Amino acid sequence: MKKICVYCGSSSGNGDAYIAAAETLADALVERGLGLVYGGASVGIMGALANAVMKRGGEVIGIMPQALMQREIGNDHLTELQVVDSMHERKAAMADQSDGFIALPGGMGTLEELFEILTWGQLGFHNKPIGLLNVDGYYDHLIHFLNHSVDQGLLRQPHRELLRVDQSPATLLDSFLNEPAPLLDIWIERKEQL
Ligand code: AMP
Repeated sequence: MKKICVYCGSSSGNGDAYIAAAETLADALVERGLGLVYGGASVGIMGALANAVMKRGGEVIGIMPQALMQREIGNDHLTELQVVDSMHERKAAMADQSDGFIALPGGMGTLEELFEILTWGQLGFHNKPIGLLNVDGYYDHLIHFLNHSVDQGLLRQPHRELLRVDQSPATLLDSFLNEPAPLLDIWIERKEQL
């Protein structure tokens, strides 16, 4: 495992907790010799995380669509900034270049990226670990909703378990390093149900 993709807000959120969590995650990544792959912005939690990893001497690869270079302000103080043509290309490049995925607090962009990588895992397109950093209970309602989905028979328990939830970046990264994610085959599971 060499690089971890982190999805997170292009805003900073209220209070200091989210930026502090990004800095703690930067510590945990650099201590383990893991590089960061992220969306390339210099704003919000995204910018704070990238700057913190760079400041600690770590490796940061930012991937940003040309159309967002002005709006999210591409961060040119990175190990490498890759400029691509579309959002889809950005997400594919982030996924291809990473060995695991973590979501810090964020808004719809973060959720969309997290759920895309979860559904790719659910379909067996990859078996890279995925984790949610539940900073100060930010994601409590989302976790509750996913458990509700399982209860209602609309989300299978093994697919729910693709998302590892923790409050500690160090614990989450150690689980990535020590407990490999399963390679699921939804099509075999479906046939078994018939
Ligand atoms: P947000 O969590 O909404 O602050 O967004 C975090 C990141 O997700 C930003 O870099 C956005 O550009 C990105 N983003 C927003 N919508 C999408 C989308 N549909 N596909 C991919 N990335 C997105």
